[in-house]
Amino acid sequence: MKYAIVILFSSIQLVLSAQQFTLPNLKFTYAEYEPFIDMKTMEIHHSKHHQTYVTNLNKAVAGSPFENKPLSKVLLNVSNASDVIRNNAGGHYNHTLFWEILTPKTSSQPSELLLKSIEETFGKLDSLKTKMHQACMSRFGSGWAWLIVNEEGKLQVTSTGNQDNPIMDVTTERGIPILGIDVWEHAYYLKHQNKRNDYIYAIWSILDWGVISQKYEDALKDPVLVSIKSDNWPELKAFHKVMSNTFHAAEKKDFKPIFDRNQELMIKAFLLKNSEIPVLALEERLLIMKSLEKLAKQTIELNSFISANKKVTNGVIMKKLTAIHASFHEVMGLCKDE
Ligand code: MN
Repeated sequence: MKYAIVILFSSIQLVLSAQQFTLPNLKFTYAEYEPFIDMKTMEIHHSKHHQTYVTNLNKAVAGSPFENKPLSKVLLNVSNASDVIRNNAGGHYNHTLFWEILTPKTSSQPSELLLKSIEETFGKLDSLKTKMHQACMSRFGSGWAWLIVNEEGKLQVTSTGNQDNPIMDVTTERGIPILGIDVWEHAYYLKHQNKRNDYIYAIWSILDWGVISQKYEDALKDPVLVSIKSDNWPELKAFHKVMSNTFHAAEKKDFKPIFDRNQELMIKAFLLKNSEIPVLALEERLLIMKSLEKLAKQTIELNSFISANKKVTNGVIMKKLTAIHASFHEVMGLCKDE
């Protein structure tokens, strides 16, 4: 009996640990958000809507190239993912941020550093409020309004539809959000009905500027910002797409993608080698050029190996593909040092 219980508990734990993403706890009880957000809305929003994003995301990433990848990786490469992953990964990220930045119990102020940056970009805090308000009101249908740290490390107000967000490689104005306002009707309809305006004022009055200020400082040194910048190199991005599709399949013993796409991989490697390198420092440019030269050569070798051999062994292909993957990461690493 004792053993049965131990086995039962360890298998429950196994099931739990198999969940890649989990619903975060709120900092307050549902009732404590009153009167700004009514208890029923909070309860449904957190325990039903957000939970559903988490559940569906876990289901969708299982067996996909995004299995066991951090959420930021999923968002940064969401153009390679299904719509189900896109919507639910966004839903999970966006709501997690939203709960973090709300504090119905205490009032707060932006840090000196953040306030200085707000004043530089918007003039004063009230102008930022107006801009965010406009972004919320002009978002047609469902979506989010954001205050982000953009690729240049500057503050910017933007908005996205549905559950997209500015980290995603499918959005045009990109950066790391430090403040997000959910303007889906599910966020306010029970209390405010069609009056989105009243809801935005309520949210603005319970923002946790302590948390937002911390997020501002973290965003400035977040490697995610570097990844967003490297997306400015479209040829790198295009190569990456074919690389990850073929390499990760091969890692799982599926060699069909690399058989089908090895020529495309070679062509993308050449387009990459001949593209303009968006890195300024001369020393790094030279190193990148060297790695790109090697990468292109390796893809020719793989291509001629596959076309010349009727009976190619998967082991050799894997070895060559791993070398190509390593060269690609050399390039990525050099971009990050910029
Ligand atoms: Mn929502």
